[in-house]
Amino acid sequence: MVVCIIGTTLFIHLTTMFCILVPWLWPLRTLLSKLSFLVLNASTSLLLINYYLCIVSNPGTVYSYYQPPPETALELTPVMDYLEVDPATDVLSPHYCHSCQRYKPPRAHHCRYCSRCILRMDHHCSWIANCVGHGNQAHFIRFLFWSCISCWCCVLVIVARLEVVLVGAVRGHSNLEMESGELIIVCMNVVVLTPMVTMVSMLFYNQIQLLLTNETTIENLKKNRYSSYSYAGRRVDLNENPYDLGNWFENVQQVLGENPLFWLLPNFQFHSKPSWSGVSGDEEVWHRDGHWFPIGTHVQRILHE
Ligand SMILES: [Zn+2]
Ligand SMILES: [Zn+2]
Repeated sequence: MVVCIIGTTLFIHLTTMFCILVPWLWPLRTLLSKLSFLVLNASTSLLLINYYLCIVSNPGTVYSYYQPPPETALELTPVMDYLEVDPATDVLSPHYCHSCQRYKPPRAHHCRYCSRCILRMDHHCSWIANCVGHGNQAHFIRFLFWSCISCWCCVLVIVARLEVVLVGAVRGHSNLEMESGELIIVCMNVVVLTPMVTMVSMLFYNQIQLLLTNETTIENLKKNRYSSYSYAGRRVDLNENPYDLGNWFENVQQVLGENPLFWLLPNFQFHSKPSWSGVSGDEEVWHRDGHWFPIGTHVQRILHE
């Protein structure tokens, strides 16, 4: 799958660039030709870099020494993700993964393809032969963004080229006709690009919707589990995502980083080694390492009513 995606991307990019854009549009040296040339090359480079980062990045491993917070800390946090009811004893107990034989932090899930628990797991993606989780979701969103730009840029170049040919044919300008070689390339690109642009755009739209509300794909699919759960010994009815911080900007910051100037650029800085160990650690370090996530004030209000 990885080889297939890289091969298809390079095929579309190189044929659009060297068989359509450079021979036809580039000699005109218009603003449009320069802009298309720049955007096409930059977006394809950025999509490939982010694709590589998605594949090689660790999506998020649970520390072997991770322990759920003590009961006193649970008083301050929604237990929905920390605890589950043991059906045998009907007692609340911390989430425990029997396959990995360790406790699961909030938002972590066991991936049966990767055979381990993944921090803030979004989904397992066969496109990248890896899970999308806390460690690489930012790369995945950037990869989708630059894929959309690259694909739509190719579509625009092909549409612009076809428009010139059609207008030339209508007006009888034989010098604007397409040669058979170029025609074959255009037809092949249309066949490959149509499903690709549809899929990438839909996936990107879906990821952006989740990003704006700070929700993972798994959480979105299991939305009903927010509806009612136990907190500090009482039942709480909650129909909202507790990790939604209330405004889209802060939600995006949770995944793409603090500074919006770097949201779309590749980030080669991998997560720092944990300086924390034990149970009563620094929440910020927990947060950076994907073992803890802040909850929205709207939810905190409901919990402390
Ligand atoms: Zn596990
Ligand atoms: Zn996986």
